[in-house]
Amino acid sequence: MGKNTTTDVTLYEIEKNSYLLDTPGFQSIDIYEIPSKDLANFFLEFREYLKNCEFVSCLHLKEENCGVLNALKNGKISNKRYENFVKIYNDLKYEEEHKW
Ligand SMILES: [Zn+2]
Repeated sequence: MGKNTTTDVTLYEIEKNSYLLDTPGFQSIDIYEIPSKDLANFFLEFREYLKNCEFVSCLHLKEENCGVLNALKNGKISNKRYENFVKIYNDLKYEEEHKW
């Protein structure tokens, strides 16, 4: 419990390194406005597995008992989508760390 799942957004990769977010209220939002820790919520097929993560703060990278990593292992999430997730996550993280 305690997870914020109020956002309802779809993330599309329109071309390499270019992403479009489809949201109910907005045409598009800047991907760099997504907090890196919330990124998994933007991958719709990840969402049903997020609740299986042991930790609410799970980043789905190397954690034990991560619902996303387990789904990946079981072939329920495609490797390519997961790779995209990690790549975008690292981009966001980098931006966050270099904001100042
Ligand atoms: Zn996780």
